[in-house]
Amino acid sequence: MRKILIVGAGQSGLQLALGLQSRGYEVTLMSNRTADEIRAGRVMSTQCMFHTALQHERDLEVNFWESQTPRIEGLGVSVAGPESQRVIDWVGKLDGYAQSVDQRVKMAGWLETFAQRGGQLVIHGAAVSDLDFFARRYDLVMVSAGKGELVSMFGRDASRSPYDAPQRALAVAYVHGLGPRPEHPEFDAVRCNLVPGVGELFVMPTFTTSGRADILFWEGVPGGPLDVFQGVKDPQEHLALALELMERYTPWEYARATKVEPTDANATLSGRYAPIVRNPVGRLPGGGLVLGVADVVVANDPITGQGSNSASKCAAAYLASITEHGDRPFDEAWMRATFDRYWDTAQHVTKWTNAMLAPPPEHILDLIGAAGGLQPVADRFANGFDNPADFENFFYDPELAGSYLAAVSAQVQAGA
Ligand SMILES: Cc1cc2nc3c(=O)[nH]c(=O)nc-3n(C[C@H](O)[C@H](O)[C@H](O)COP(=O)(O)OP(=O)(O)OC[C@H]3O[C@@H](n4cnc5c(N)ncnc54)[C@H](O)[C@@H]3O)c2cc1C
Repeated sequence: MRKILIVGAGQSGLQLALGLQSRGYEVTLMSNRTADEIRAGRVMSTQCMFHTALQHERDLEVNFWESQTPRIEGLGVSVAGPESQRVIDWVGKLDGYAQSVDQRVKMAGWLETFAQRGGQLVIHGAAVSDLDFFARRYDLVMVSAGKGELVSMFGRDASRSPYDAPQRALAVAYVHGLGPRPEHPEFDAVRCNLVPGVGELFVMPTFTTSGRADILFWEGVPGGPLDVFQGVKDPQEHLALALELMERYTPWEYARATKVEPTDANATLSGRYAPIVRNPVGRLPGGGLVLGVADVVVANDPITGQGSNSASKCAAAYLASITEHGDRPFDEAWMRATFDRYWDTAQHVTKWTNAMLAPPPEHILDLIGAAGGLQPVADRFANGFDNPADFENFFYDPELAGSYLAAVSAQVQAGA
């Protein structure tokens, strides 16, 4: 059977490894951490995944935590006014529910499953020289090492990377003790709180190492009032800062957060990175070629919560391309075609995410405002998180947005 080396055991690497393993490929997986180290380590993401991405996991029968994980049935947007009052507040209903399983739980569990099923697991932080050595022994080498140092093998694609610096400072805290949103206590939702010119606060439920919890995730414009988490390592101190900012900018979220506690000693994370699209094929010093996967090749800012979704979609697309290719060589043309298949969906994620990082133009403000009175608009916006390609149809172009709003208003009036 064909031999495949996968470097990096995150969402994409593990999903690919488990998928290829179940189809009889001989897979070696390199991880720089053991399952126990991942489980006991720092939180890595907020990892909210929508229906299509979750379905790829179900297709592989690796959705082990689905029944224990809160079902996120809606996605809401609130906008803060100049006096920190809420000037917009609505929630759209998702056609299929979303879920967030703490990556510490999922990656540790998947790593153990891969090994139990007879996969070859190598615990080693791979360097380019290792890959150079191993490349000759495998039919295909894929690098799914996220934003780790191995990305240096893959050149930046400037034509697809409009930003060359981080656009947000990120600060995440996993907490126990958050109360429900009083407006919709009957269902869970991701809450996107937009504070114009300052940043965003995302609040969502998750399933972590100690069961159900909630995540408070600030995205701050660099250099602005939310960009204060750098160097804060103590989770209590981090949480106190996050709450202080909530009290000031999103008092409606603060009101249900007065009793929260960090879930564990590694419940907080802060950092920043520049969004980037890279050349998908890396050339090793010895001439071998490696294919980049997910964040290695397309790393978007988490403002739209898409990276894990994209990683799942990338793994599913690559799995299909590998199996369809049979015994033919995994040459450069195949690698580029395989990435292009993924880019068909990833390009929409990238375009939308980069648009959301910029100050919104008038017609987008109109759409977000109108969603408060027109439920179909709220629902369509929410479901765009599952299928960002749909934003092409009504979001970017002022004329399309205007005619869409007019059509929905007419429909709603006719039905009233
Ligand atoms: C604050 C924050 C919030 C986010 N929220 C969301 C969200 O709500 N929804 C969403 O969809 N996405 C979200 N994302 C993005 C998402 O977490 C990532 O895009 C996704 O995990 C990428 O998957 P991946 O497989 O490419 O890489 P990763 O999940 O980063 O996995 C890479 C793995 O490779 C390992 N590695 C690195 N270097 C080496 C090496 N040299 N040798 C061996 N192993 C190595 C790493 O330790 C890691 O385990 C968020 C990200 C951040 C930072």
